[in-house]
Amino acid sequence: NEMEKIRMKQVKEETEIMMMDSTTKKQRIATHTHIKGLGLEASGRALPLAAGFVGQAEAREASGLVVDMIRQKKMAGRALLLAGPPGTGKTALALGIAQELGSKVPFCPMVGSEVYSSEVKKTEVLMENFRRAIGLRIKENKEVYEGEVTELSPEEAESVTGGYGKSISHVIIGLKTVKGTKQLKLDPTIYDALIKEKVAVGDVIYIEANSGAVKRVGRSDAFATEFDLEAEEYVPLPKGEVHKKKEIVQDVTLHDLDAANARPQGGQDILSLMGQMMKPRKTEITDKLRQEINKVVNRYIDEGVAELVPGVLFIDEVHMLDMECFSYLNRALESSLSPIVIFATNRGFCNVRGTDMNCPHGIPVDLLDRLVIIRTQTYDVADMIKILALRANVEDLVIDDESLAYLGDIGLQASLRHAVQLLSPSSIMAKMNGRDNICKADIEEVKALYMDAKSSARLLQAQQEKYIS
Ligand code: ATP
Repeated sequence: NEMEKIRMKQVKEETEIMMMDSTTKKQRIATHTHIKGLGLEASGRALPLAAGFVGQAEAREASGLVVDMIRQKKMAGRALLLAGPPGTGKTALALGIAQELGSKVPFCPMVGSEVYSSEVKKTEVLMENFRRAIGLRIKENKEVYEGEVTELSPEEAESVTGGYGKSISHVIIGLKTVKGTKQLKLDPTIYDALIKEKVAVGDVIYIEANSGAVKRVGRSDAFATEFDLEAEEYVPLPKGEVHKKKEIVQDVTLHDLDAANARPQGGQDILSLMGQMMKPRKTEITDKLRQEINKVVNRYIDEGVAELVPGVLFIDEVHMLDMECFSYLNRALESSLSPIVIFATNRGFCNVRGTDMNCPHGIPVDLLDRLVIIRTQTYDVADMIKILALRANVEDLVIDDESLAYLGDIGLQASLRHAVQLLSPSSIMAKMNGRDNICKADIEEVKALYMDAKSSARLLQAQQEKYIS
């Protein structure tokens, strides 16, 4: 039970590290939290409402086939394109595919226009997102001693070391564990660190060991104040004293590793894990750093310590990419370290950005050749209402049928996304009107305040002369 607690704590800490690195991306999937998969039967048929998915049956079934192809490794070098009008659940489908592949499969959404930044090269942006979409599951055997520092009589110290303890090269401390009191030989550097942390007799401390060698000591099992030691400073632990031994599984993305090793401090487990191999630590993610990370990762994979978890990279508005990006993508898809790439577009024929080549979806034909294309259809009002009800439910909002129907109509006239977006302001409006449940009146009020894209465009058209063009 104690071990489980420690493990949970560690797992929590590690996910926090991951989240720290991917907060900007988290926001983009916040509106899709109700999507838990594709909602297919074992036969591959789409259920009317399952795993948070409503309707869009053909696209979901086709996506299910793609999941099978990915599992059978038949998608190597290829990619998926979701084509359909705005607001038809393309992001939701891509997320559903990622979830069908496994619960810890990374999902990285981006928009084509993200590659245009004044500071970073286009291919650099693509590369970073590729690495956000490649996961690594690291299995580590950890031994963690937990115990109370006890006082040792000089005789006890003498008996542990056979006189050796008298030399300045080692300090003996007593550690009371559930198995009884252990005496540990500590290197003076660790001892000094403990003294500096004002560790005293009676305190509980934790010692992490690696194959019997003391690696880290600290006041908590998360080693928040950790004393990271050089290999030469490792102190061998006596055999048979392992107090806790646990295989710890850590899920990270290659980008997390890049970032953790680029930052001088801040990380915990992964940092020390990978940091050992590449001191001095760097402050910027460079190609060289990535190559070094790849080398270590490949070695871990060969040794069976780590396992690659290819995830899903979702690139919306693919027509925003230019030739340079497309040629990078063509190459990257061939790599053995490639995630599943899912493109999305709502364009028909258009020019490949920056050229006068007219191509379907603005995608050059050589890339188009590698794509599996799935179409998405617009929703009818009944489906929209079901989706709105799902969203209201995950957002803990109370809304009656009349209001849902009204929102459904708004969705039909404007877009599903606009209707979904009206949910939270409507609930605030309801509160202002002294109610917990959303009424049609609240939505009417909110609708008058905000304009959807279509009516905004209509207004602009009508009042063109008043605007600077
Ligand atoms: P697109 O990428 O096609 O513009 P999207 O997936 O990014 O679409 P919208 O289609 O605008 O997002 O969807 C608005 C909201 O409705 C999102 O919260 C989305 O998760 C949800 N949604 C869309 N389609 C479905 C569906 N078939 N079932 C359940 N929820 C859906």
